[in-house]
Parts: sequence; C-alpha cells; structure tokens
Amino acid sequence: MGDKMDVSGQTLVKRPPAVLTARIVGRRDLTGDLMLLWLEVPSSFNFRPGQYITIGRDGIERPYSIVSAPHELPRVELFIELVPQGKLTPRLWRLGPGDEVTMRPRAKGLFTFEPGYPNQLMVATVTGIAPFVSIIRDYLHRGERGHRFYVLQGASYCDEFGYDSELRELASRHPDLLTYVPTVSRPQEERNAGWQGETGRVNTIVEKYIETFGLRPEDTIVYACGHSGMIQDVKARLLPKGWRVKEEHFD
Ligand SMILES: Cc1cc2nc3c(=O)[nH]c(=O)nc-3n(C[C@H](O)[C@H](O)[C@H](O)COP(=O)(O)OP(=O)(O)OC[C@H]3O[C@@H](n4cnc5c(N)ncnc54)[C@H](O)[C@@H]3O)c2cc1C
Repeated sequence: MGDKMDVSGQTLVKRPPAVLTARIVGRRDLTGDLMLLWLEVPSSFNFRPGQYITIGRDGIERPYSIVSAPHELPRVELFIELVPQGKLTPRLWRLGPGDEVTMRPRAKGLFTFEPGYPNQLMVATVTGIAPFVSIIRDYLHRGERGHRFYVLQGASYCDEFGYDSELRELASRHPDLLTYVPTVSRPQEERNAGWQGETGRVNTIVEKYIETFGLRPEDTIVYACGHSGMIQDVKARLLPKGWRVKEEHFD
C-alpha cells in the first residue's frame, strides 16, 4: 500500500480499517450445538491453512479456526460449537444467511503445516478438526506429495464429527496419503447405537495408533487441537518420549 504526501509534505500512512464486515452465506446445523457456517469475506482477506479468523457481533469478538482452504476464498468455512453460557456463540446461533458479522482484517496463528516431517499425526476433539481439514484440502489442491496424514478425531457422539464423510472419502481416494480414525467416547449411549468404529477418548488411543501406523518421533510431527484436557494428556503421554507436539487450545 503506497503512502501519500499531504500539502505540507508530511507522509500520510494509509492504514487498513481495524474491523471489516463479512456476510453469512450459508449455515448447516449438525446437531443442536454444532454448526457449519460459511462467510463471504472482503477480497483483501487471505490466510495460511491452519490459521484462524476473528469474528464478532455486538462488539464481542472470538477467534475461529478456518476449515476451508485459501483457494475457496472469498468463502470462509467455520465449524462452531455453541457454548450456552458464552457471550458470542449464542448470538451467532441467532444468525443465518444474509446476516453480517464483523471480522478482523488479518488471519492469525502459527498452527500451520510443518513440511519438514514426512508423517503428520493430527489429533482433534470435535471442532478441533477445522485446521486439519484446511491443511489437507490445501495440500491436495496444490497437488503436493511426499507427506502422510494420520487424523484421529474424538467426539462424545458419532453425529458430531462434521467432516467424517469428507475425510473418509478422501482417505479412500488417497489411501497412501490419508488415514482417518474417528472415535466416540460414549459408545454405550443410545445416540451412538450402531457405531462400529473406534471407541474411547481420542487422547487415550494416540499411543495405540502410533504403534499401528509405525510412527517414530524422528519423522513425525504431532498436532493437537481442541479441548485443553485432551491436549494436556497427549503432551503428558508423548513429550517425555521425545515427540514434537504442536498445540492449539479452543477453551
Ligand atoms: C485459536 C482459537 C481457535 C478457535 N477455533 C474455534 C473453532 O474453530 N470452533 C469453535 O467452536 N471454537 C473455537 N475457538 C473457541 C472460540 O474462540 C470461543 O472461545 C468459543 O466459541 C466460546 O465463545 P463464547 O463467547 O460463546 O464463550 P465465552 O463467553 O468466551 O466463554 C464462556 C465460558 O465458557 C468457556 N468455554 C469457552 N469455549 C468453550 C468450549 N469450546 N467448551 C466449553 N467451554 C468453553 C470459557 O472458558 C468461559 O468460562 C477457538 C479459540 C481459539 C483461541
């Protein structure tokens, strides 16, 4: 952005506005407290896969990891959990297509792809899958090769994964590139009737799958995203054994 001179010869620095506006162009309710939201953002906005956007309403702002990849701009996709006692999410739950939210002009965050490791182990609780979907969509879109993604996602119920169809489909199309393991922590409950996949909290199955996949700390980066309790436990299990763990806490 070029600076201009005023009549007295002083330099006027043109700054971008502190807050922009994004329009909601789509919403899909997954459950009573989980939704996918699509925003249309100004053309000046850009981001790296894994980063977050800060959106707001009534002056209350919160960060949300971006699910979509940069090639999908000007659309930005978010996966949001309702915090009933929270300040922003109950307000977002009242919105739909045509409504507006504020947004900060720049994406932020360092929870991005680490290309230096051939094996990428991604561990998420529910909405914590967002940055991983962005990274994988972008990787495939750019036609990159040479890395292998192992995605473990935990939820209480099997209707909360959000991106299980997409990840299963990508895994079957690219078996040499992606493995996806969803796990439910309450297998005995009626809402999980018929579930035939993995069971247990995602942090408790990490070591088993490291063994199954034959991963080693020397060639693997572990990313953990979502609830702090999960992240702390994954770190407690892996850091003493020499694994590198990159983390993003949502609560
Ligand atoms: C980098 C980053 C990325 C994030 N990405 C996402 C995302 O992709 N999707 C998403 O849904 N959220 C995400 N979050 C969380 C989000 O920013 C908000 O904190 C969340 O939506 C709650 O906002 P709120 O205003 O409704 O609740 P607040 O008014 O901020 O919180 C009310 C209370 O609820 C607690 N709380 C906050 N979040 C949770 C939670 N998830 N579960 C239980 N208790 C909680 C708070 O500690 C507080 O005590 C992210 C947070 C960070 C820091």
